[in-house]
Amino acid sequence: MIIILKKDAKKESIARLEEILKEKGISTNHIQGVNQNIIGLIGDTSAVDMSNLYAQDCVEEIKRVQEPYKKANRKFHPDDTVVQAGNVKIGDGSLQIIAGPCSVESESQIITTAIACKEAGATMLRGGAFKPRTSPYSFQGLRAEGIKLLLKAKAETGLPIVTEIMSQSDIDLFADVDVIQVGARNMQNFELLKALGKVDKPVLLKRGLANTLEETLMSAEYIMSEGNANVILCERGIRTFETMTRNTFDVSAIPLLKQKSHLPVCADPSHATGMISLIEPMSLAAIAAGADALEIEVHNDPKCALSDGGQQLTPAMFKEVMEKIKGLCGYFGRKIG
Ligand code: PEP
Ligand code: MN
Repeated sequence: MIIILKKDAKKESIARLEEILKEKGISTNHIQGVNQNIIGLIGDTSAVDMSNLYAQDCVEEIKRVQEPYKKANRKFHPDDTVVQAGNVKIGDGSLQIIAGPCSVESESQIITTAIACKEAGATMLRGGAFKPRTSPYSFQGLRAEGIKLLLKAKAETGLPIVTEIMSQSDIDLFADVDVIQVGARNMQNFELLKALGKVDKPVLLKRGLANTLEETLMSAEYIMSEGNANVILCERGIRTFETMTRNTFDVSAIPLLKQKSHLPVCADPSHATGMISLIEPMSLAAIAAGADALEIEVHNDPKCALSDGGQQLTPAMFKEVMEKIKGLCGYFGRKIG
């Protein structure tokens, strides 16, 4: 349920309204919008008598919200959320390009790749230190050492860093990371989500391999309900019967998530398709669909990569893709960075 307040609502009247709700065990969430001030109600509102609430003179309108996600719901928060990640903003109309290797493999690999990505126009650096691999015998990531190397690459380039967490027991290692990524395989690791809700850091939440958009928004709700409102959603393809691509890129998820939620939306054409030849067209499609950020895998030497070698762009390929991205952003009047 949301309560839209009158423009001239008095503080005392709002306080009285809150008192009534508190007595019924309902917590409130104040949202100061550009055009309206709203109070979001969280808890069991089935016993709330609407006519009683209308009796409070600060109340303009009351609406029931059907969707199970509240804090992530655009009805609760009509204005777009803008997430500050290091020196960049995600969701303010600009386009952020998060580029870098699938895995952090060595100091020279991450620094060489980071410099090349920056030169081509990337605004953030990605790289996996903790890798969720299908096989326990595959490269598992450099873990804490990988995060240290990412921080060196950040010091070298100034690019904010994005890297994946797999367990809440590692949270302290992410203290200097700019954006913590929750990978597709952990989208419904609810204990991890709750722990990230208590962290004062943006979270890039990827859609699960076979999850609906509503489930994705409910996972965002887990993080937000613990107090962290800085969530970026990410469409990275879903499992379908198609086998020619690694996943099926659900482009429609981008505008739909933005309609249903105020949170910024990122798109990952690398994991969505698994094919180098599809990164450029799908990046352009994602921008046209309204994505706030793109996450693209780039490796200085993909043939020798320790993970996802077949889908990572070389710096030269990335530069070409970036030229097309810049052209399309020019057409839409969007700035990169
Ligand atoms: C990744 O970004 O490195 C990754 C593992 O992606 P996903 O969780 O989308 O598979
Ligand atoms: Mn990868």
